[in-house]
Amino acid sequence: MHPITRAIRAQVDRTNEMEHSQPMFLTSSFCFDNAEEMRAAFADETDDNIYSRFSNPNVQEFVDRMCALEGTEAGFATASGMSAIFATFMAFLKQGDHLLSCRSIFGSTHTVITKYLSRYGISHSYVDAGDIASWEAQITPQTRMIYLETPTNPALEIIDLAAIRALCDKHNLLLNVDNCFATPIGQRPIEYGADLIVHSATKWLDGQGRVLGGVVLGKKELIKEIYLFCRSTGPSLSPFNAWVLSRSLETLEVRMERHAANALHIAKALEGHPALEQLRYPSLPSHPQHAIAMKQMKNGGGIVCFELKGGIAAGRKFLDALEILSLTANLGDTRSIASHPASTTHAKLTDAERAAVGIGPGLIRISVGLEHPDDILADIRQALDQASPTS
Ligand SMILES: *Cc1c(COP(=O)(O)O)cnc(C)c1O
Repeated sequence: MHPITRAIRAQVDRTNEMEHSQPMFLTSSFCFDNAEEMRAAFADETDDNIYSRFSNPNVQEFVDRMCALEGTEAGFATASGMSAIFATFMAFLKQGDHLLSCRSIFGSTHTVITKYLSRYGISHSYVDAGDIASWEAQITPQTRMIYLETPTNPALEIIDLAAIRALCDKHNLLLNVDNCFATPIGQRPIEYGADLIVHSATKWLDGQGRVLGGVVLGKKELIKEIYLFCRSTGPSLSPFNAWVLSRSLETLEVRMERHAANALHIAKALEGHPALEQLRYPSLPSHPQHAIAMKQMKNGGGIVCFELKGGIAAGRKFLDALEILSLTANLGDTRSIASHPASTTHAKLTDAERAAVGIGPGLIRISVGLEHPDDILADIRQALDQASPTS
């Protein structure tokens, strides 16, 4: 069966009620008929559910569907994308180890690496997405893992996964890929040799801005380590959120195809607009890593970004002028969202630090929704007119 069929059809066992939609198992623990069954479950001799911090049928259904989509053997679902990412660091890095990470990563991931891992003796080096030839020189005998996002948030830089895999093979490193932006519909990192794939399910996987969630995917033996860490420390996904996310996966492919089609339509229409310094979308030939994007991605995804002439002031004016697009911190929603990193998520960085991760003062990130693309475009165009320094 195709991955999409398995992702739609993998489901918890039907109960005696013969329901079609899956029931929700809102229970913190599970019962045993007798002492022997309970002993065997605790001894790991059976895979019976014991307690929802360890496992839950709704959570397992979500994981099984994600495994089908990403082509992985196993997975463990977490309460948020950040807890998924943190679990991969905690399960595979120890005092004295070194982490090589792409510099352009999600803001909270940056905080975890710089503020928290360093306290426990785990060092790191940042490398640039646009210059992967420079990465090898940063690998030390202590390096254990390479961590990256592609496309990066928010500047949409693309990293050649096959080239990084070759580096990991040469130096015996784990390759850990945050696949949040592309989703498994746009890109399957397992096909390029990723060992660990992490997701914020909060974004496109949910797709409607309702619940937080995360997941780590990979080979059984690696996911066992994630499971053991999470089982004891408790960042497990709630069964309610898992139920919501699992329903969302049934429409992931059709949603992502439309998000990407709308994004391409908008990117093409806006490229060269006089209010813009530049525009970035992976499947436009003008994207600096277009060839790599074409090689490893099935579509350009749902995010378009552009740099406004007029910097910070223009960015703020643009947001204020929007009538349809939402101003909110999320992305990957049916409703289009605009954000201005330099005055919000990345406001604490210096201009030079922002430039190093591809964020100019007037950078706008559009998470393209499922509204009619002409309506999204019209709203962006009228806001550009108002934000343009000449108007
Ligand atoms: C949002 C996001 C995260 C963090 O996910 P949460 O679910 O908010 O914890 C991690 N990586 C990327 C690329 C994201 O966009």
